[in-house]
Amino acid sequence: MQIVADLHTHTNVSSHAYSTLAEIVHAAKEAGMLAIALTNHGPAMDDGPHQWHFGNLNILPRVMDGVTIIRGMECNILPPMGAVDPIEYKYYKALEYVIASFHEPLYKPATVEAHTIAMEGVLRDPQITTLGHPGTPAFRFDYESIISRCNEYGKIVEINNNSVNVRRGCRENCLEIARLCKKYEVPVVVSSDAHIFTQVGRFDNALALIDEAGIPEELVVNSSRERLAAYFRKIRGLELFPEG
Ligand SMILES: [Zn+2]
Ligand SMILES: [Zn+2]
Repeated sequence: MQIVADLHTHTNVSSHAYSTLAEIVHAAKEAGMLAIALTNHGPAMDDGPHQWHFGNLNILPRVMDGVTIIRGMECNILPPMGAVDPIEYKYYKALEYVIASFHEPLYKPATVEAHTIAMEGVLRDPQITTLGHPGTPAFRFDYESIISRCNEYGKIVEINNNSVNVRRGCRENCLEIARLCKKYEVPVVVSSDAHIFTQVGRFDNALALIDEAGIPEELVVNSSRERLAAYFRKIRGLELFPEG
């Protein structure tokens, strides 16, 4: 399966990521990506950028070095109801792609029930597009209850390449989630979650999971230029490739 866009990347505006935007874009081009989403952590994270980073994303050229840039954020799920980083609403509303993820510094792992309540808040937030690295072992939630309702709320589910490397015990959860996506025909996105340019466009772990779960190509939103364009047209009315 081909992946044409990397919709989860971090630049060094977060101090635990190490590449500039120019380096990330260049690496994306080298990896054959048509588009990337720039998804730095929301400002609630200790080393996340100031909210002005998100408010000013519209100065980025739509296309850099031949790669289409999607203006995004990885927001932090906050307890108890799954609210996300408090940033000015006009900045939040302008984002084109919003991943919501649990991160330990901001949500102390609790119970499956508590995590499920937070995920229900994520489902109900119309600005959020994507459940980010949902297989994190410390944040098990009722997978079936949440995944089975993703289509109702227009959410897609991330199969995160980096999770399998950095989060011990994640693979089994990720596989379980991937199988539920197949069962309920929930679209997924394959992403690197790159924190350095060398990780951009790397999807080997995630693609192995997609294969093992038997998810068909039609359910992977970034598996072709047409599917990617159709997805952003549908969720944001955005023409990613206006030149056709
Ligand atoms: Zn994350
Ligand atoms: Zn991330």
